[in-house]
Amino acid sequence: MKVYCCLNQKGGVGKSTTTYNLGAGLALLGRKVLLVDLDPQANMTRFLGVTAENGSVTKLLTGEKEAKDIIVKRSENLAIIPSSISLSGAEFKLFAEPGRELLLKEAMEKVKGYDICLIDCPPSLGLLTVNALTWAKNIIIVLQPEFAPLEGVANLVDTIRIVKQRLNKHIEISGVIITMFDSRIKLHKEVITEVEKHFVKKVYTTKIARRSILAEAPSHGKSIFEYAPKDQACKAFTELAQEFIKRSGK
Ligand code: ADP
Ligand code: MG
Repeated sequence: MKVYCCLNQKGGVGKSTTTYNLGAGLALLGRKVLLVDLDPQANMTRFLGVTAENGSVTKLLTGEKEAKDIIVKRSENLAIIPSSISLSGAEFKLFAEPGRELLLKEAMEKVKGYDICLIDCPPSLGLLTVNALTWAKNIIIVLQPEFAPLEGVANLVDTIRIVKQRLNKHIEISGVIITMFDSRIKLHKEVITEVEKHFVKKVYTTKIARRSILAEAPSHGKSIFEYAPKDQACKAFTELAQEFIKRSGK
């Protein structure tokens, strides 16, 4: 199983939407996909239309439950470890645990049967994100093509460098996905040029446009493929999934 952290230390940039629909696209291409919602806001869990009835990722991190007991199967190839608001309190408590950065990695060790795992990280660089970075080998940065979100990326790259030095020498930035792109906005193109200069060869050719239907679909608990299979956003996410597979070499 190849594990990817979908990351941005800011909220509202389209991370959960992108992670979910990329996962759904990969599942439709025949890959076994496990999504992990590591955000106490549990947006991705809601977007899939599931609840954490059998316990959320919180119980996994505290050791009260095993992954196999809380995984919710959403469709043939798509499953999720759901989150819940209890995770915000748990993050605080887990801070006192020895080996607190290793909790997710250890809890996920026995999970088998998936090709790809995508972790939707919380919009901060706290203990939960550090747990994701300690387990995964790959990072995908999800970015909006605006200058403000770009400013935070330096911080992010710094955290990744520290985790690499101290906790996980295998971690790499494997891709940067641009979302909420509007080709009519000159600034967007300028920012993308900057990002491509900074992250050489890492920026996905496929860009996800800003489209209101991508905001509508999750409010019905559906992926874009289920909600609007003929919409151009589906084509974009299929292309994104294909590019993901090509880049990952699997
Ligand atoms: P994050 O996980 O970074 O906080 P979300 O995925 O929750 O971001 O997206 C933030 C808001 O933007 C949500 O209301 C979502 O529906 C909307 N959104 C996300 N991606 C797009 C897109 N490509 N086009 C239009 N709206 C989007
Ligand atoms: Mg989110």
